[in-house]
Amino acid sequence: MQTDTAHSGSNTSLARRAWSIRRTALRMGEVQGQGYIGQALGVADVLATSYFHALSYRANDPEWDGRDRFYLSIGHYAIALYAALIEAGILPEDEIETYGMDDSRMPMSGMAAYTPGMEITGGSLGHGLGIAVGAALGLKRKRSDAFVYNLMSDGELGEGSTWEAVMSAAQHQLSNLICIVDFNDQQADGPTTQALATTPEAPKWQAFGWHAQTVEGNDLDALVTAFDAARSHPGPQPRVIICNTLMCKGVPFLEARESNHFVRVDADEWAQAIAHLDANIPA
Ligand SMILES: [Mg+2]
Repeated sequence: MQTDTAHSGSNTSLARRAWSIRRTALRMGEVQGQGYIGQALGVADVLATSYFHALSYRANDPEWDGRDRFYLSIGHYAIALYAALIEAGILPEDEIETYGMDDSRMPMSGMAAYTPGMEITGGSLGHGLGIAVGAALGLKRKRSDAFVYNLMSDGELGEGSTWEAVMSAAQHQLSNLICIVDFNDQQADGPTTQALATTPEAPKWQAFGWHAQTVEGNDLDALVTAFDAARSHPGPQPRVIICNTLMCKGVPFLEARESNHFVRVDADEWAQAIAHLDANIPA
């Protein structure tokens, strides 16, 4: 499945890829003195599995027609996706210093018109899956083998538009659609399960006609197994992987901070977080 990926033949471990994504996101956060770093650290393993195991793409041709699409429904996670796109060689590393600045190709919220590899403009939440349904339907009609991956948050499960898309995907038997839910149990209003509980997750998706899995979203081996199973499932159903993640994963002093949607990081703590990663480089 990965014949066109930039990483074919690479021996770089997924753990090292996830480490790099975390480190690059922290460097961008340091540039701006802010950013949705809790989400970025939490979702790094999901992005490493996506870009260095699952997705087919050409780093030097981000619009290659045969690519798998990766949609970032959660535009405020852009800092995390930029880090993955840099690691994938789609964005140059030297643009890190421009993060969030005027005229940068890396604005603080993801916008398709600005950034190679940013497929959609997310950010008004609850729309990514609907866009993904349309794209998956179009690819099917073109008899493309490409898959559409849509990364969304648990908070977006509270949006009615998400569930319209869920029903549409099943109606059209979009077996080329893989939805990834970053279930960190946090959203702007507080813990997601207290704001508008959508548990139990997997049975709901199954009842709507989806192939559903729940996985530890910071366990790379478990993610690989789940991503493979989603892709290879022989049935006509669209597929969802609900990933239970930990905000700020990988930086213990931030993990221990009271969990919230926008983690405050003091000016000197960015360097401390990077130093922690540098002292713990995976093989
Ligand atoms: Mg969340």
